Amino acid sequence: MRRWSEVAEHLAATTRTSEKTRLLADYLRPLPPGELPIAAVFFAGRPFAQQDGRTTGLGWATIAQAVTQLAGTTAGALSEAYDRSSDLGIAVAAVLGRSTGPATLPRTTGPTPIEPPADAPSLLDVAAAYAAIEQAAGPVAKGALFARLLARCDPMTAKYVVKVLTGELRIGLREGLLEAAVAEAFDQPLSAVQRAGMLTGDVGATAQLARDDELATATLRLFQPLRFMLASPAEDAVEILQRLGPVVWVEDKYDGIRAQLHRVGDRVRLYSRDLHDVSGQFPEVVAGATGLSWDGILDGELLAYRDGAVLPFVALQRRLGRKAPSAAIQAEVPVIFVAFDVLALASAAEGLVRPGVLLPQLDRPLAERRQLLEALQLPLIGQGGLFGLSHLVSVDSIESLEQAYAAARARNNEGLMVKDPASPYSPGRRGLGWLKMKRALATIECVVIGVEGGHGKRHGVLSDYTFAVRDETSGTLVTIGKAYSGLTDAEIAEMTGWFEAHTVAQYGRYRTVEPTVVVEVAFDVIVRSNRHRSGFSLRFPRIVRLRPDKTPDEIDSVATVEAIWRGRQHGPEHLVTARAGNALEG
Ligand code: AMP
Repeated sequence: MRRWSEVAEHLAATTRTSEKTRLLADYLRPLPPGELPIAAVFFAGRPFAQQDGRTTGLGWATIAQAVTQLAGTTAGALSEAYDRSSDLGIAVAAVLGRSTGPATLPRTTGPTPIEPPADAPSLLDVAAAYAAIEQAAGPVAKGALFARLLARCDPMTAKYVVKVLTGELRIGLREGLLEAAVAEAFDQPLSAVQRAGMLTGDVGATAQLARDDELATATLRLFQPLRFMLASPAEDAVEILQRLGPVVWVEDKYDGIRAQLHRVGDRVRLYSRDLHDVSGQFPEVVAGATGLSWDGILDGELLAYRDGAVLPFVALQRRLGRKAPSAAIQAEVPVIFVAFDVLALASAAEGLVRPGVLLPQLDRPLAERRQLLEALQLPLIGQGGLFGLSHLVSVDSIESLEQAYAAARARNNEGLMVKDPASPYSPGRRGLGWLKMKRALATIECVVIGVEGGHGKRHGVLSDYTFAVRDETSGTLVTIGKAYSGLTDAEIAEMTGWFEAHTVAQYGRYRTVEPTVVVEVAFDVIVRSNRHRSGFSLRFPRIVRLRPDKTPDEIDSVATVEAIWRGRQHGPEHLVTARAGNALEG
C-alpha cells in the first residue's frame, strides 16, 4: 500500500495526461495477479468495486476517534487540520505526522513520518481490512478494525487509506485515464477496455481481463447493476437539433429516482443510481414485477404516484432511506416504476432468445430498444399494475421542441430528456446520445445570511452561501436555500475577506454573517418544503451574480416566491399509464 500511495502522490503532482497514463501503466503492468484488481479499484477512488454495492459504513466520527486516539491528540486538532485542507486524508496524515506516539494503541514499531512500520500493510491487507470493516457490526467494532489498520501505516499511507475508504481520492485521476492506463499497461485497444468496463462495472475485473487478453469475454450479469447512462446538459433548441437531429425523441424529465430493475422469474431487484440495492425500500414495485413473462434489465425512474397523479419529489423523499417502509407510509406515498429503456433481455416473448440466456441490448439503437420495451407488455398503472412507460414525442423542428419544453415546464417538470433514437446505451457515460434540456425557471434576489468554506479547489475560501428572502408578515429573513457560489474566483476571494470581517457568529465550519450581500439565485424547480424556514425549497439553485446595486430591503419576499410556485401548479403527469393508443406521438 505504501508503494501504491507513492504512485498516487506522484499522479497528484503530475499535470500532463500522457505522463499520468504512462506512470500508472508502468505501475500496474508488473503487479501480481491478486494485487492488480485491488490497485485498479483503489485508483477508481473506492474501497470496493462500484457494482459490488458494499460500503464500509464508517462515519466521520468513528474515523476521527480512531485517528485522534492513535495520534494522541484531540478531535479539535483533526478538525483544524481538516479546515485547512477540506480533505480528511490530508488532515489524518497531518495529525499522524505530528504525533509523538500512540495514546492508547500500541504501535509495533515506533513509526516516524518517514520510515514505514515493519508490518506495513500490503494492498491485500488493506482490501481485507476494508472488507472486515464492512462486515463488522456497529461503530465500535468497525472503529477498532480501522484503528488497527491505521496503526500499521506511516502518515502518507494512512492518508491514502483514508482517501480510498472515504471515496475521496482527489488526485486528478479521471476514470477515462485509468482505463487508458489499463489499455497501455497490457497493450489492449482502449475501446475494448472501455466496453468491458461498461459491462462489468468493475475496473479491477476489467484490468484482469485486459492482462489475460480476455476483454472480449466481458459480459453483463443479472443482479450485478450496470452503471446508468447519463445525459449532458443543453439549453438551446437549435444546438440540440444540430447535435441529435434531424429527428429527436423527447420525454419529460421526471422528478423521481433513477432505478435499474433486474428480474429473473420471481427474483426481482432494484438498484439506485449509485448501484446500491434498494429493493427493500420499494417492496410494492418488487412485488409488482414478479410473475411477468420476461427476464431482463430495465432502466427507469421511481416516482411517487397516488390517485392518478405523480406526487412531487418531496413526497418521494419520505420513502427514501427507510429499509422497510411501513404499510402506512406505503399507502401514503405509493411508488411506481416508469420504464424508459431495456438493457438486457432473456425473454421467450419475442421468440428471439432462449429463456435464462441474457442478451445485452446496449448496442441496439434506442428505437429498437423502445420496441422491445413496449413488447414486454408491462402491467401499467391504468390496468392495475405498477409500471408506466415514459411518454415519448418525436420532434423534428425547433418550434415543436420549444413547445414540448414549455409543456413539460407547465407540468412543473424540470425540463426534457432529448434522446437520439439511433443512439446505443452507454453505461456510465455522459455521452451525447441523451441531452437534458433545462433552463432556469426563474431567478430571485436573496440576501446571504451564512457562509461556509468550500471543498477541492475552493478550500480556504468561503464559497458556499446560505441565503434568505423576506417574510413580509413578520418582517424577518427566512432561509430558502444554499448553493455553491457561481461567482468568479476573484469575486469569491474578495467576498471571503468581506464575510470574514462581517461574521456574526461561528459554529464549526459555518458562520452567520451580516445580512447585507444581495445575490441573484437561479433555480429549475420550486417545491413546498419544510426544509427551509421560507416553506419552499429550490432545486438546483445557483448563484448567478452579486447584486451590489441592491440593498437587502429590495430582496424578494416569500409572497413573490409563492407566486412563482403557484404559476407552476397545474396539469397532470405526463407518462403512459395505460395501453390506449401508441406511446409514440409526433
Ligand atoms: P441529472 O440528474 O440532472 O443529471 O439528469 C439525469 C437524470 O434525469 C437521470 O439520472 C434520471 O434520473 C432522470 N430522468 C428523468 N426522466 C428521465 C427520462 N425520461 N429519461 C432518462 N432519464 C430521466
